[in-house]
Amino acid sequence: MSPAAIQPGALFINGKREDAVSGRTIEVRNPATAELLTTVPDAGSEDVDRAVAAARTSFVRKTWRGLPPSRRERVLLTLADLIEKHRDELSLLETLETGKTLRESAGADVGPSASCFRYYAGWVRKIHGETIPVDGSFLNYTLREPMGVVGAIVPWNFPLQLATWKVAPALACGCSVVLKPSELTPLTALRLAELAVEAGLPEGVLNVVTGYGTTAGDALARHMDVDKLSFTGSTRTGRALLNASAESNLKRVSLELGGKSPNIVFPDADREAAIKGAFWGIFGNKGEICSAGSRLLVHGDIYDEFVETLASRARRLKLGDPQDKLTMMGSQISAAQMERVLGYVQSGVEEGARLVCGGERDAEGAKANGFFVKPTIFADVKPSMKIAQEEIFGPVLAAIRFENTDHAIEIANGTIYGLAAAVWTRDIKLAHRMAAEIQAGTVWINTYNGFDNGSPFGGYKQSGFGRDLGMHAIEQYTQVKSVWVAL
Ligand code: NAD
Repeated sequence: MSPAAIQPGALFINGKREDAVSGRTIEVRNPATAELLTTVPDAGSEDVDRAVAAARTSFVRKTWRGLPPSRRERVLLTLADLIEKHRDELSLLETLETGKTLRESAGADVGPSASCFRYYAGWVRKIHGETIPVDGSFLNYTLREPMGVVGAIVPWNFPLQLATWKVAPALACGCSVVLKPSELTPLTALRLAELAVEAGLPEGVLNVVTGYGTTAGDALARHMDVDKLSFTGSTRTGRALLNASAESNLKRVSLELGGKSPNIVFPDADREAAIKGAFWGIFGNKGEICSAGSRLLVHGDIYDEFVETLASRARRLKLGDPQDKLTMMGSQISAAQMERVLGYVQSGVEEGARLVCGGERDAEGAKANGFFVKPTIFADVKPSMKIAQEEIFGPVLAAIRFENTDHAIEIANGTIYGLAAAVWTRDIKLAHRMAAEIQAGTVWINTYNGFDNGSPFGGYKQSGFGRDLGMHAIEQYTQVKSVWVAL
């Protein structure tokens, strides 16, 4: 597919392609080349109203939740098959709009999206209430009912996968959904909705509005007829959404927010495995991963050698055309994000951290118009520095030295975030102690960025609350009713 082959996108409301009432559009660009890919509607509150009304109507009429569970299971399985069938097309769209490599789009975004729908198809027939022994002559039972109309707002770094993490469990629970993708990466969400209808999902159950956060996103967040808001994105926006809920109808909110995850290496670690974990933990998806291991904590005994080995590999990392099989790292999502990352580099230098490699834009040859940033490593970073405290969301690693276990725990827990962490050691007691002491929603031991649809993912502290994936996501999209029957 060439960029010229991408038709202008449309809102997806009640199974139909629609323009924004205002007629306004948003340009979607390829960040690796800055070329215009296509346009999508710039939805306003009146468009969000239409999408929410379609979702509400499908919910009230029970066009989806009223279907036999085995049929709903089949629809989600068919959707998983269709995502796989269109894997090449979806991967290319993802690469064109995000600047990540095709390998990453296929392997870490589109492939997992198909398996996520398959996983939640398995839940459709397993969501049920309980009977509870109560005093007196009563039968008491619970009904686990769908939450209603779900507003799902997602970011640009894993557009299809993060949309799927919301849409798949919400549909499995019988909810209807209005999905708002990032204004930078709306294309795969629109294809997902079309494929869902092709798979047999009734019209109006999954609607997609494309638009900006402060207009379409805000309208969804403040909508009086949305029952639940499921969000992945920045901590700043998460705060705005809590306000929006408080100031509207107290809709339920779950938030998957930012991170500053520590990757902690002890001297007895399997060195090669730890190097690889540290390397891809920060440079995978060009550092635009909420769970990126952006703080590398290395024991003083091995610190210098470890950092130098990493840097020598980082200097050889091939940046370039994301569609080229040999490219290891693509471009940042936008000029603004690139400038933000470079601003953090400057702050690291100003605060006295030692720039070991990278730290600048790569605009060589075909990369001239793209937003590429060389893989960057800072050494001698102090835990209080800005580059060790704030989420950069780019290929910038802050390497911090620690002297003993307590010191490592203190540094690891010393930010506002608590999304993920990793520990590298052969000492099983130490590994479990660290897993218990670290305040994070996920702790990896001797591995990094392990994900499975069955395993919950989400934050401690200001990394958010509520969990995506696994049985825990089912709790996000259902509510429990207690029924009393006098006998
Ligand atoms: P962002 O918060 O700016 O935007 C995310 C989404 O929210 C977009 O669709 C955007 O349009 C919308 N939005 C923005 N302002 C809004 C508002 N006021 N009201 C309603 N919607 C609004 O985040 P981003 O820059 O797109 O993504 C990067 C952030 O996402 C990083 O902080 C990263 O850590 C986080 N993230 C977290 C996870 C996780 O699972 N915890 C996963 C991926 C990304």
